Amino acid sequence: MRSDGPHLDTSGAVPAIEVRDLHKRYGSNEVLKGIDFHVDAGQVVCVIGPSGSGKSTLLRCVNRLEEPTSGEVLIEGVDICDPEVDLDAVRSRIGMVFQQFNLFPHLDVLKNLTLAQRSVRGRSKAEAVEVARRNLAKVGLADRESAYPAHLSGGQQQRVAIARALSMEPDMMLFDEPTSALDPELVGDVLAVMKDLASDGMTMMVVTHEMGFAREVGDKLVFMDGGVVVEEGVPSEVLSSPTHERTQAFLSKVL
Ligand code: ADP
Ligand code: MG
Repeated sequence: MRSDGPHLDTSGAVPAIEVRDLHKRYGSNEVLKGIDFHVDAGQVVCVIGPSGSGKSTLLRCVNRLEEPTSGEVLIEGVDICDPEVDLDAVRSRIGMVFQQFNLFPHLDVLKNLTLAQRSVRGRSKAEAVEVARRNLAKVGLADRESAYPAHLSGGQQQRVAIARALSMEPDMMLFDEPTSALDPELVGDVLAVMKDLASDGMTMMVVTHEMGFAREVGDKLVFMDGGVVVEEGVPSEVLSSPTHERTQAFLSKVL
């Protein structure tokens, strides 16, 4: 269960992601009501919870796509709300994959993967293409580099989006319901890619309704409801014997 105060693992290393007493309010609507949690380097943390519980807001606060109202977000020990922080540098270490794939529709797959590498990372075209091809191969789409997004299935588009994020060589990846927009038969390929990434040791925070993935791949499962972390723990234990009534009620609807 969660620890209070700054978290140090047994090796003394700082967590990849640490959130302390995070609050987020939109007007009078307090969406996050004091969230504490951490993701250690190499860990896969899955976040579940009902619609509207604040999962996306939390994920978006982690790379400051949303401005927290109060509290702290530390990325590899650096407080990203510090006005002195180089936000672009922090963000470049965090890959993000959304429910909607957000590919550039007017660019082919290879261009989708090389654009930010060149403009943000300053890579040469040859280097960017090499990195892109390596990551396309990783997601099983080496033969689709000339395709345009509209000519790919949703599952292929999401795998391109993952390859695009990986091409920036991030230290960690955030996923916000990456398979929720997909036809059921396309979900497995995307989850398989994410599982491979986890096996490679990627640090991952995954908002998902895929309980099988959470159980099999997750090191930790966090259940959110009403803007708070209600319960967290080893996925198989939380899923099979949740201790809180709210977790039990949610799981009885989705399992
Ligand atoms: P989840 O991802 O768990 O479904 P969200 O984080 O998207 O939940 O939303 C939590 C709550 O915050 C919802 O009540 C939603 O209406 C509200 N909310 C999210 N984004 C905004 C925004 N930009 N402005 C106002 N309210 C928002
Ligand atoms: Mg959401």
